Amino acid sequence: MLALNIQDLTKVYANGHEALKGISLSIKPGEFFGLLGPNGAGKTTTIGILVSLVRKTSGMVDIFGHNIDKDLAAAKACIGLVPQEFNFNSFEKAIDILINEAGYYGIPRAIAKERGEYYLEKLGLYAKRFSTARQLSGGMKRRLMIARALVHEPKLLVLDEPTAGVDVELRRLIWSFLEELNANGRTIILTTHYLEEAEKLCSRLAFIQHGKIIQEGKTSELLAGLNEEAFVLDVAASSKAELHCPAYQIRWLNDEQLEVTVSRGTHLNKLFEYLTTQDIAVYSMRNRVNRLEELFVRLTQTEDSK
Ligand code: ADP
Repeated sequence: MLALNIQDLTKVYANGHEALKGISLSIKPGEFFGLLGPNGAGKTTTIGILVSLVRKTSGMVDIFGHNIDKDLAAAKACIGLVPQEFNFNSFEKAIDILINEAGYYGIPRAIAKERGEYYLEKLGLYAKRFSTARQLSGGMKRRLMIARALVHEPKLLVLDEPTAGVDVELRRLIWSFLEELNANGRTIILTTHYLEEAEKLCSRLAFIQHGKIIQEGKTSELLAGLNEEAFVLDVAASSKAELHCPAYQIRWLNDEQLEVTVSRGTHLNKLFEYLTTQDIAVYSMRNRVNRLEELFVRLTQTEDSK
C-alpha cells in the first residue's frame, strides 16, 4: 500500500485559474519526499487538497489506502499538516493547543497531555508549555505547529515550507528532528524553497511548475543527471584579459572573480595550469550554487522556453 497515491489531480479555482493540470505522485511508506517548485507552481494547492482545505476539481487521492472522496475521516487521521501560516488561537497555552488538537481526533486528555509534553520536550519548548502562543517567538510558534501536527501520531507528516524565515540554528534543529521522525518510520512530505534542505533531507523529489510535474526521481539520480558544474574562483590578476582554455568556459564576474563551467568528469588540473600561465593567482574556489539549485534553474528555464 502506498502512503500517498495521487492520480491525475486537477484544480481550477473559482476565478478560472488552472492551478493543477493533472498531477500524479506515488509515495511509499517511510519515504522522505520533497515537492519543489517556484512560487505559484501549485505546491500549496496540492497539499491543501490532501487535508481537504482545498476542493479538488478532478482526480484521485488515496492516503494510506483511504480515498479522500469515500473515507475522508480515515484519510485525515493518517495525515498531519504543518501549514505555512500560523493558525492557532494566540491566547491559548501551548500545551492546551496540543491537547485540544488531539481532542479533535478523539484522543483521551491524559494521553494527549503526555504526548503533547513529549513533543514539546523534543522540540525544545517544554519550558514554554504554559505560555500562550502570542508570547512565543516566530521560531517557537513554528515548532509548536510541528508538535500540533504530530499529537494524533499521523503516519504521514506534510510540511509546507517548514523552515521559511527560520534562523540557521533552528533550521538545523528542525532538520534533525524530521530526520529522526523519518528514521523511526514516519513518511514525510515537504515543500521547500531551500534546495539545500531538499538535498539534505529528501530521498526523492518532484519538481512542479505551472501545475505540472516536470521532473521526478531519486535525489541522488537527479543530481547525477547534471552534466555540468560551475565554480566561482577568487583570483588576483594584473589584467582582465579574455581567457580561453579548451574544456572550460571561463568568464570574468568582476575584477576579482572568475566563473568556470566544466563538464562532469573533467579534471581541473589543466585549468590551474592555464591560469598560472596567464599570471592569475587563485585564492579560493566554491561551487557557484548548490547543485540542486543548478538543476532547478535549468529545469524551470527549459520548461519556460517551451
Ligand atoms: P505554490 O504553493 O507552489 O506557491 P499555490 O498552490 O499557492 O502555489 O498556487 C498555485 C496557483 O494558484 C497560483 O497561481 C496562485 O495564484 C493560484 N491560487 C492559489 N489559491 C487561489 C485561490 N484561492 N483562488 C485563485 N487562485 C489561487
